[in-house]
Amino acid sequence: MFEKILIANRGEVALRIQRACRELGIKTVVVHSEADRDAKYVKLADESVCIGPPPSASSYLNIPAIISAAEVTDAEAIHPGWGFLAENADFAERVEQSGFVFIGPKAETIRLLGDKVSAKNTMKKAGLPVVPGIDEALPEEANAVMKIARSIGYPVIIKAAGGGGGRGMRVVHTEAALLTAVQMTRAEAQAAFGNPTVYLEKYLENPRHIEFQVLADKFRNAIHLGERDCSMQRRHQKVIEEAPAVHLNQRSRFRIAERCADACRKLGYEGAATFEFLHGNGEFYFIEINTRLQVEHPVTEMITGLDIVQLQIRIAAGEKLPLKQRDVAFRGHAIECRINAEDPYKFTPSPGRITSYHMPGGPGIRVDSHAYNGYFVPPHYDSLLGKIIAYGDTREQAIARPDIALSETVIEGIKTNIPLHQELLHDVAFLRGGASIHYLEEKLAKMAREE
Ligand code: ADP
Repeated sequence: MFEKILIANRGEVALRIQRACRELGIKTVVVHSEADRDAKYVKLADESVCIGPPPSASSYLNIPAIISAAEVTDAEAIHPGWGFLAENADFAERVEQSGFVFIGPKAETIRLLGDKVSAKNTMKKAGLPVVPGIDEALPEEANAVMKIARSIGYPVIIKAAGGGGGRGMRVVHTEAALLTAVQMTRAEAQAAFGNPTVYLEKYLENPRHIEFQVLADKFRNAIHLGERDCSMQRRHQKVIEEAPAVHLNQRSRFRIAERCADACRKLGYEGAATFEFLHGNGEFYFIEINTRLQVEHPVTEMITGLDIVQLQIRIAAGEKLPLKQRDVAFRGHAIECRINAEDPYKFTPSPGRITSYHMPGGPGIRVDSHAYNGYFVPPHYDSLLGKIIAYGDTREQAIARPDIALSETVIEGIKTNIPLHQELLHDVAFLRGGASIHYLEEKLAKMAREE
């Protein structure tokens, strides 16, 4: 096992990884920007290294600074967390070339699967059902583009091959709007991801977002930890997640999960993977794979009793998966509410000092957050403050518990989206379960009209 791990990230995930390391007896180095210097989670680490000024480009995305931090602290491995460099194949490569272990899949695997077009092709070959569409980049020529869209049938969605974080996507309902939309998405993709490649697929009208968690070791052993329903989204960003997903056929669900694990075996995948699918009309359609830890991993941990971050570390250290598929037991239900520092209805970010802070507790409640009383939420990064995760023996209990927890929670000095969560936890469609990915947007639009 490693003696020391460097955490190339900030905020909640930097704390989550530290907790996993401490339990494994591993020392931690946290890198931080000048904006995060005084944060408590930075002080909690065994060592910390300032890697640059507040903007991410000069700090959390600064590969040479991170590598030299690992060198001066004698860290053996680097955990990238999520966001920032977590799915950057060049970073993974530099880490390995510099003599450190990257906690995640090999650089070439990240490269292959990070491009959504090649990921889709790879998974189709591995036997997964994919969203109908073309399996290659969209050509430049206007007539060819129109022909492809016609053959898929409207509505279609234009997606950036290098896209992520819910950006670089555009829905097109008519041929008249197609070419301009393609051009705009290309330009955006170039600006945001440095890659103008876009592709087309069928826009599914009312699907659910269902994703499967898989873990694979260096010996081609792979297991799945079931699925999560992440359909409650705003602007393609998840707001509430739960596990297991309700109202799904048990057999087809496990068949897909098995195939995801199988795809990892075939690919020689190493580490944690999330296979994202849209689910509609009883069918699953693969959309993309995330080659890293997910924000919503705790709901899976709650119903399996496993520590996904520890397993990532053990896999990276060359250990065999400590359990087989039949040893994975699913129990109860879990719901996660993402707490963001933002206006609950206008969604404008709300950075600033937390002047009063109290977190809930009680049976089945887990709080993953780096915030505390007096914490200053910096304006430079995304607004995720943490998550309140609830476990229940039944779905009803898993919904009742966060509701009580949120009523106990106090965060003052900044705005948070807690009021929105409180509303959603009483929403009829949410209570029924199985709402589509558009449900929350439609609800918010309706609320705005009624105001
Ligand atoms: P990102 O990498 O930016 O998260 P994804 O490919 O995972 O992008 O898509 C994010 C979300 O966008 C999905 O959860 C879904 O809500 C929506 N989406 C993506 N592809 C489609 C599609 N073909 N039809 C309908 N919605 C889609």
